[in-house]
Amino acid sequence: VTEIAFYYPTDLRFTCSRCGECCRGSNVLLAEGEADRLASLPWDGADRDLAEIKPGSTLPGDSVPGRLALARREDGACVYLGPSNQCRIHERFGAEAKPLMCRLFPFGFSTLGDRVAVDVSFACKAVREEWGAPLSTQVAEWTRLFPEAPRESKGHRFSRKYDVRGEVLAEVESHLLELLSEERLSLPDRIRAVWEFHRLGTTSDPSTDAARKLREVMRQGIPKQILERPVPHGSETMDKTGRAVFFHLLFLMLNPTPRELFSLSGRAKEREVRLRVQAADAYKFSDARPLIDNRESRATFRAIGAVSPEYLARGDGSSLLARYLGAKIQGQRFMREGDEEIPFLEAVPRLLLSYPMAVWTAKALAAERGAAEAKDVDARGALRLIDRAFGQIRLSLLPSAQRKAFRFVLLETDLPIAATWEMLAAHNPR
Ligand code: SF4
Repeated sequence: VTEIAFYYPTDLRFTCSRCGECCRGSNVLLAEGEADRLASLPWDGADRDLAEIKPGSTLPGDSVPGRLALARREDGACVYLGPSNQCRIHERFGAEAKPLMCRLFPFGFSTLGDRVAVDVSFACKAVREEWGAPLSTQVAEWTRLFPEAPRESKGHRFSRKYDVRGEVLAEVESHLLELLSEERLSLPDRIRAVWEFHRLGTTSDPSTDAARKLREVMRQGIPKQILERPVPHGSETMDKTGRAVFFHLLFLMLNPTPRELFSLSGRAKEREVRLRVQAADAYKFSDARPLIDNRESRATFRAIGAVSPEYLARGDGSSLLARYLGAKIQGQRFMREGDEEIPFLEAVPRLLLSYPMAVWTAKALAAERGAAEAKDVDARGALRLIDRAFGQIRLSLLPSAQRKAFRFVLLETDLPIAATWEMLAAHNPR
């Protein structure tokens, strides 16, 4: 057996706690032929009720026509989830009978040069609680499952102009990871360092020797410069357009479109869409109650602004968020938009925005429990919500004018930095 070079965040942990959380509320895509295989399982006796079940259904609005996902019950749980949170396929026919995506979760693979990058989902409770065995214990299981997993492209997109080999992308990403763990800088300043690196290092053909040397110099020089240079005046708050983009994306992250929306018809659908648009718009007003995870939050923006984010900017809280950002880079999910790979150049701003978004969400969760400071429980809760939709938000589905405006703001302004400072302000005016 050829050894596969898995590339994964060595500082994370996972052991399945059988909480059943991953079997509720998320879409489990089925590989070709899996729906038929599940339909032919010989259910009988106490499990007779499953014999007539249709295992797969198409996802409304899916970008891949005809693709099936596991059918879900009214309450959002998978049809195979049993009353004691156990998978009935697993109980009756063993782990191998489950769909591939269930067997892989919370992991996913992407090829990057001669290595296989492993994405780790923080939507999984054990992962985000950092509970269980080190990920190195998973290598044997990954090796076994990898041949079954879908294969991905060979080349990678760096910018609209340049494609790169996986090795080059891996080298660029290693700089991002080093900057994210730069001990001399606070996490907000590391975010700034990554942002500067991304801006300066993506202008020319990234595959040349000169570009590689320049990246090396920048990697060394940027932290020193940042240490000597305070935040430039004017970047402490978002401007009106930046704020609109930030909160719109945040709304989408926290409230992935509910599946039922598509099965509504006529008036009911219109009303639901209007409510969602209003809820997204309300993110502008200081006394608005935001919508989080499809339920209206009790906290107002004013209360959220008053929560101290200190814990998330320094110490243990910032190490957790840095581990999260690092895991997204290593797992390549920051390069995804639904089923498409997006260019590195466009992926980095979105990755960096997930930090101020996690800060905002953790503050919102803290405000909901009446706390004056966001703590570990809020940070981990925020990562659950943010990671569930990370890499899934498809700007390509927006109307063209809006898409262009979003793209312009993401690429041409300092939004990730402005959003970072604004979310970290102790008494945020909004
Ligand atoms: S098939 Fe089993 S493991 Fe997969 S989502 Fe359903 S209940 Fe969970």
